[in-house]
Amino acid sequence: MSLAPQTAVDLGSRFAREFPELAVPWAAADFPDARLLVLNEPLAAELGFDQAALRTREGVGLLTGNLVPETAAPVAQAYAGHQFGGYSPRLGDGRALLLGEVTDADGGLRDLHLKGSGPTPFARGGDGFAAVGPMLREYVISEAMHALGVPTTRALAVTATGLGVQRDTVLPGAVLTRVAASHLRVGTFQYAVATGDDDLVRRLVAHAVDRHYPHLTDAENPSLALLGAVIDAQAALIARWMLLGFVHGVMNTDNVTISGETIDYGPCAFMDAFDPASVYSSIDRQGRYAFGRQPLIGEWNLARFAETLLTTIDPDTDRAIELAQDELGRFRDAYNAAWFSGMLDKLGMPADADQELTTPLLTDLIDLLHISRVDYTGFFRRLSAVARGDAGTRALFADPGPFDLWSERWLALAPDADKMDAANPVYIPRNHLVEEALDAATAGDLQPFEQLLEAVTSPFAERPGLQRYAEPAPDAFGPYRTFCGT
Ligand code: AMP
Ligand code: MG
Repeated sequence: MSLAPQTAVDLGSRFAREFPELAVPWAAADFPDARLLVLNEPLAAELGFDQAALRTREGVGLLTGNLVPETAAPVAQAYAGHQFGGYSPRLGDGRALLLGEVTDADGGLRDLHLKGSGPTPFARGGDGFAAVGPMLREYVISEAMHALGVPTTRALAVTATGLGVQRDTVLPGAVLTRVAASHLRVGTFQYAVATGDDDLVRRLVAHAVDRHYPHLTDAENPSLALLGAVIDAQAALIARWMLLGFVHGVMNTDNVTISGETIDYGPCAFMDAFDPASVYSSIDRQGRYAFGRQPLIGEWNLARFAETLLTTIDPDTDRAIELAQDELGRFRDAYNAAWFSGMLDKLGMPADADQELTTPLLTDLIDLLHISRVDYTGFFRRLSAVARGDAGTRALFADPGPFDLWSERWLALAPDADKMDAANPVYIPRNHLVEEALDAATAGDLQPFEQLLEAVTSPFAERPGLQRYAEPAPDAFGPYRTFCGT
């Protein structure tokens, strides 16, 4: 079926055409009773979509894959991946579709993608569908991340399908319409390598460079250049997560993008009390993806990426390993530099502050936060008040003595309070508020979701009436648990 002219969007099919080996042509399930729940108007505008048209029946058809332009060739993408360290040769989009690519205002390609659109040949045991709660969860958390300045996939819309989804109980079903720089994953490369076709890997490298790192197009060794660029992008990304207290929860290699965007918001959460051992996902029993392990896991995932590139880096395996290892060796420095510079911003210090003073100051602060289990986000935001001469923040600590000693050293470096307020958010998607909003939405009331979204999509500007969005969870909320694949 073709689209009415007012909703017609140009949807390319570059990936589908260039990589038939990595894609299965597929269509979304029929959703005759689909109803739009949330539409991201600023993002729609950024993509050149007509918002009013997206709200029509045809528009909702586009957002659910039920009415696609004739130019488009929707596919389920194939990928492999290490899940919790174990390799799965065939994962792929079990409940997702790449509708096609849109050219954005800057001339770049953005994927238009669906999640929860029905089972594909990669569904394995899954039903191919998604429930309203988890899709709204990805919407609010990815949009919060974007507002916090973290590279991420975006959420364009969530549409209720009108169908029930069987989980522990029957839940209302939904489709998330997602926008991403691409859906190339480390797992995409792992799948390509497993085909044994070196030319496919070479084409994939060229495609990734062209889409994400075009300045490297003429690199002497494209695979090595791509590896270096992805290492830098992932080091910067994971540093941003760590600075914000974000726990991704499933850092499997199929959830690691080549673009350096955060992807697949499943059991993720923002940490309340500072603790590197924080784990929220109910299936992460060993704490593999605990908050403090994320940089290490990022490095491990990049080593898996490097392995996929070896044959195209150099025909001499020893030489290829040596070159790849040199690149991987840079990850720690790149990560540490990004984290350190972000921490200086959080503390209102200039980028050229004396490292002999700032390094121990940072290490001591991390110890202090850990021992006192103070709320991470609230602490940094309230620290700017201390820089402005307000002593109230010390009340966050049961024993304020060590904090007083620390803050004396810090104040002696003349922190810039305004700079701190631009780096430390007031509003993050607090776990208890996310749950509250999703429970209400599942029961048909979207208002709490909309309020939460409004708070977290302008995270740095403190506004009257939003105080509860700035508070940690009450004790009664208890330990937080999140669930995957829901
Ligand atoms: P995720 O945990 O969302 O990154 O998904 C891991 C893999 O499981 C991917 O291949 C997904 O497509 C697949 N998957 C997750 N949930 C479902 C579902 N309900 N139906 C089919 N496949 C699914
Ligand atoms: Mg995934």
